[in-house]
Amino acid sequence: MKNTKESFVILYIKEATVLEDNHVHTNYCPHGSRYLMEEYVVEAIEKGVQKLTFTEHAPLVIDDPTPEKDSAMLEKDVSEYIEEGKRLKEKYKEKIEVNIGFEVDFIEGKEVETAAFLERYSDMVPYSILSVHFLKFDENDYFCIDYSKEAFMEKAETAGFNKLYQLYEDTLLSALSLPFGELTPKTIGHITLINKFKRAYVFEDPIEWNQILRKVQNNGYQLDYNFAGFDKVDYQESYPPEELVKEALELSIPLSLGSDAHQPKEVGRHFERSLVDG
Ligand SMILES: [Zn+2]
Ligand SMILES: [Zn+2]
Repeated sequence: MKNTKESFVILYIKEATVLEDNHVHTNYCPHGSRYLMEEYVVEAIEKGVQKLTFTEHAPLVIDDPTPEKDSAMLEKDVSEYIEEGKRLKEKYKEKIEVNIGFEVDFIEGKEVETAAFLERYSDMVPYSILSVHFLKFDENDYFCIDYSKEAFMEKAETAGFNKLYQLYEDTLLSALSLPFGELTPKTIGHITLINKFKRAYVFEDPIEWNQILRKVQNNGYQLDYNFAGFDKVDYQESYPPEELVKEALELSIPLSLGSDAHQPKEVGRHFERSLVDG
């Protein structure tokens, strides 16, 4: 099984004209690692990646509901992050194209605040990713779906799997409805994130993925083809998984390759196999 999935990825990457990693985190991410942005760039060059886009988690517009409050970068770090990105873009321009964006959270009920942020950094919108990590259960009651398996299972027990999946589907559909107009980042992050812990429980995903993909297509989004999932013990696939990727390709939905690296050695993860025989 694993081999078929991997060979699909290899084929996909081999056909890509430019090897890009468009989903990369940095030392400004509190749940990431302390490695410097430059170390990610150096690693990318070594692995033959031709284009790297930094997409640090944009500062949250809600109080971080996770126990460690470590979901996103701090507001005070934003300008330093951008400056460092620009410096690296210039320094390595002969070797690699470096871009700077954000991974922006779509948070139901906080569209005004999010739009204000996007407006401030509008030139970074084309390099940014829009992701759903937080579900709104009640007024000022948000739940982070990918913090930990334990937290997810606990929520599933109290709220029900159905409710979790239903809310995720609804939130995703809102995120795919161009909620910020022209300022909407049109790469949708790890679209099947709700399934991150799926091997830990028995529940059939009720989401109408076909309908979701239609929305992606109709509103001109592209998919973050995210390889972090291969390394998650309770998931072990790409986001989205192979069958959805095939459906997306049939609908001519563009894919944007991303490692979701939180440390340099993860840059271009699972890309490199495809480079062995060139
Ligand atoms: Zn992260
Ligand atoms: Zn994410």
